[in-house]
Amino acid sequence: MPAYPRLFQALQVGPLKLKNRIVMGSMHTRLEATPEGSARAAAFYAERARGGAALIITGGYSPDAAGLLEADAGALDHPAKLAEHRVVTDAVHAAGGLVCLQILHAGRYAKHDGLVGASDLPSPINRRKPRALATFEVEQTIASFAACAALAREAGYDGVEVMGSEGYLISQFTALRTNNRSDQFGGSLANRLRFPLDIVRATRARVGPDFLVLFRMSALDLVEGGLNADETLQLARALEAAGVDVLDTGIGWHEARVPTIAYMVPRAAWRDATARIKSAVSIPVMATNRINTPELAEELLAQGVADLVSLARPLLADAAFARKAELGRADEINTCIACNQACLDFLFRNKVASCLVNPRACNETFYPKVRALHAKRVAVVGAGAAGLACALAAFERGHRVTLYEAQNHIGGQLNLAKQVPGKEFAETLRYFRAHLAKSSIQLKTGQRVSADELAQGGYDAVVLASGVRARLPDISGISHPKVLRYDEVLSGAKVPGASVAIIGAGGIGFDVAEFLSAPKGGGGIVEFLAAWGVDPQGMGDGGLVAPKEESSPRAIVMLQRKSTPPGKSLGATSGWAIRMQLARRGIPVLGGVAYQRIDDAGLHILHEGRPKLLAVDHVILCAGQESVNELHGELAAKGIAAVLIGGAERAEEIDALRAMEQGMRVAYAL
Ligand code: NAP
Ligand code: SF4
Repeated sequence: MPAYPRLFQALQVGPLKLKNRIVMGSMHTRLEATPEGSARAAAFYAERARGGAALIITGGYSPDAAGLLEADAGALDHPAKLAEHRVVTDAVHAAGGLVCLQILHAGRYAKHDGLVGASDLPSPINRRKPRALATFEVEQTIASFAACAALAREAGYDGVEVMGSEGYLISQFTALRTNNRSDQFGGSLANRLRFPLDIVRATRARVGPDFLVLFRMSALDLVEGGLNADETLQLARALEAAGVDVLDTGIGWHEARVPTIAYMVPRAAWRDATARIKSAVSIPVMATNRINTPELAEELLAQGVADLVSLARPLLADAAFARKAELGRADEINTCIACNQACLDFLFRNKVASCLVNPRACNETFYPKVRALHAKRVAVVGAGAAGLACALAAFERGHRVTLYEAQNHIGGQLNLAKQVPGKEFAETLRYFRAHLAKSSIQLKTGQRVSADELAQGGYDAVVLASGVRARLPDISGISHPKVLRYDEVLSGAKVPGASVAIIGAGGIGFDVAEFLSAPKGGGGIVEFLAAWGVDPQGMGDGGLVAPKEESSPRAIVMLQRKSTPPGKSLGATSGWAIRMQLARRGIPVLGGVAYQRIDDAGLHILHEGRPKLLAVDHVILCAGQESVNELHGELAAKGIAAVLIGGAERAEEIDALRAMEQGMRVAYAL
C-alpha cells in the first residue's frame, strides 16, 4: 500500500490525464526579466517535472501591454514570443511533465504608468492611479485573454490558467470595492461576473474542447467590498457552466490586511473556503496555500476538501517533493517553511525569486547537479544553517566531508528560531538529519574541534561555520540577574516573569516578543481566523468579520535606540503582519531610547529626553550578535587558510537566508 494512496491516484482533468494530484501552482519568479530567462525557466520547470509534479502552471504572463505586472514582466501577446515559450514547454515535456501558461492581467496592481482597471479607483498598495477601461476596451481585453490562450496552445502548452483572484483585474471587475461601472460590466452581481465568464467563453471558443482551461478564482477576497461566500459559489457554478475544466482557488487580495501564506498562517488554514467551492461544482477543485507536506495533502484529498493540491513554494523548496513522497521518502523533503524571505521578499526587491532552504531554486543553471572534477577531503566546522548547507552540498558534489559540531545536536541558531510560533525550522532540521543519516558525511557532535586536530586531519579544505554569540551591550548592570539573553529565553533555559523589556527591535527582538506574547492555546486554524477577523463561514463582506481581541499573557515593551520605524529589517511580505499582530496584543515599541542602567528596580532609560524607569521583572537582550571565529586566526598561524562562512564571517544581518546561500555557494567553489 503506497504511503499516500490518494495523492498518487491519477485524475482525468478536461482532456488531460494527470498521473497524480500534485500541481505546481503558479509563482512569479522574475526569470523572464533576466537575459538567460528562457533557459533558466526551462531548467527550473523541467527539474520540477522530473521531480514528479503532475502538472506545472507557469508564473503569470499578461495577455496585453496594459496588463503587465511591471514593465519588464512577461507577456504572450504576439507570435514573435512563441519561440521563447517553446524552450520551456519542450523542456517540461522532455522531462515527462505537463505545463500550462497562467494568463494574468494585473489591472490596478500594475507597477507601470499604463495601468488600467475596472474603475479608476487606486489600490492602497500601489501609488499609481489606474485608468478605467472603456466598454470597448473591456471587450478587447476579453479577446486578448482568448488570443493569449490560442498562442499558448501554439507554443506547446497543455492548457492555460486564467488568473481570476488575488485582486488582479478579474477580481477588480467582480467586486463592488473596485467596480463602480455603469455599463454591462458593472452594477449587479450578474454584470460584475460577466467579465470572467466572457473570458472563459471566448477562451474556450478559441482553443476548443481538447485544451485544458483552469480558472483561479478567489475563494475568499478578505477585503471590504469583496464577494461573500454565496456570491463566490455563484461564480464557481457559472465558471463551470462556461467551460472551465478545473477550479483553482486563490485566497485574499494582495491588499488584504490578513496574512494568507506567511508563517503565522496555520497549515491548510483555508480548507473550508476550498471545501465550499468543491461542494458547489462537479469539476475538479484545487486547494492551495500553506499545504507543505504530503501527509496534509493526502488528508485534504481524503476528507474531500479538494481533488488536487497546488504546491508553489513547496516545489521551490524541493523540486522532488512528489517523487520523494511517492517513494516513501517524505523525511527527505526539504519543506517550505513559509518564511517568504527568498521568494516573495526577493520579488518585492525586484530580484529573481529563490528559496531560503533551497538556494538552487531558480539558479539551477548556475549550480548544476554534477560532481566536482576532483573529490576533496573537506572539514566543515559548525552544524548550524551555514555549515549544514555547505556540508550537504559538498557531499552531493562528491567531496568527502567531516562535519564538526560542538553541541550534542545539529542546528545552531535554527534551534532557537524553531521555537517562535509558526516558524517551521524543525522541518529544516529534520530534512538535514535525514540526509546526514543517509550520507557518508562524518558527523562529529559534542566536540569542539581544535586547530591542531584540523591541521592533523589532512584536509584539502576547511570551512569555518562556527556561528555567532549574543552581543552583550555596554550598559551598567548588564550582569544583573534580571538580564536574560535571547538564546536563554528561546531555548527555554530561562523563563521570564510577567513583565519584560526587550532591548533591540530587530528580527530577533520581534521573534522573542512573538514567543512571549503568543496567547495560550493559540496557533490553531480557529484561533487564527478569529484573531484576523475571518468569518469561518465566509458570509461577511469579503469573508470578513470583526477580529477577536487578543492579549499577551505578559506585559512586554520593546526598545530600540534608533528613531526610525521599528521592524524595518523584517521581510516586506511578512513584516507588516508581525507588526500588526504584536500591536494587536498591545506591545509598544519605544524608539529613540538611551539605556542608562539595570538594577533591582528595573531598566532605566531616557526616552524623548526624559528619564523613565521600566519596572520589569526581566530585561531580555536581543541586541544583535558577534562572530565566533577564533579558530580562523589559530589555523592561519599554522598556515591553513580556512574559509569563513555565515555568522562566523560577518555577524551583522546574519540570518538563515544568507547562511544557507553562502554555504551552498562555497561548497560549489571547493
Ligand atoms: P538586528 O536585526 O541587527 O537587530 C539588533 C537590534 O539590537 C537592533 O534593534 C539594534 O537597534 C539593537 N542593538 C544593536 N547594538 C546594540 C547595542 N550595542 N546596545 C543596544 N542595542 C543594540 O539583529 P537580530 O535581531 O539579532 O537579528 C539578526 C538577523 O536575523 C538580522 O539580519 C535579522 O533581520 C534576521 N532575522 C530576521 C527575522 C525575520 O525577518 N522575521 C527574524 C529573526 C532574525 P538600535 O541600534 O536602534 O538600538
Ligand atoms: Fe518557502 Fe521560504 Fe523557500 Fe519561500 S523562501 S519557498 S517561503 S522556504
